[in-house]
Amino acid sequence: MDSILSVIRPLGLVRRAETLKALATEIVALGGVPASLEDLLGLPGVGLYAASATRAVAFERRQATVDGVTARVYRRYFGLDDALPASADRDLWSVVDRATPRTGVREWNWSVLDLAATVCLPGRPRCEICPLASDCRWSVDMHAAG
Ligand code: SF4
Repeated sequence: MDSILSVIRPLGLVRRAETLKALATEIVALGGVPASLEDLLGLPGVGLYAASATRAVAFERRQATVDGVTARVYRRYFGLDDALPASADRDLWSVVDRATPRTGVREWNWSVLDLAATVCLPGRPRCEICPLASDCRWSVDMHAAG
């Protein structure tokens, strides 16, 4: 446990040490990280986003992946409301599932994250430099409103 704490303390994750130890123990017992969504969700401390991101990024499987940050881009682009947290918003996950490409899933997810971090910012999005502006509901509505 001390070795785990020494690694994660600088990251501010001390309270997750027990969970990380349980997760590592389970993965060793399984002989590796499972690739199915169901099996990933069965691991200690792994929720829908972590399981989905692992499938998409580590295993390069076509897998809808959305968190609170990338939800901002999807919701603005498709004109979805933001009443629910991303993790509980079934409509959002359904739209993201349909938007996710069959190949290049890793790059797709990184692209949406980059767009959220640099262009589609909280508060005032920088639609004037966004490559998605011509088809984005948010941007189109903003122009229509004058
Ligand atoms: S056009 Fe504007 S609101 Fe739409 S995705 Fe780009 S930055 Fe976000």
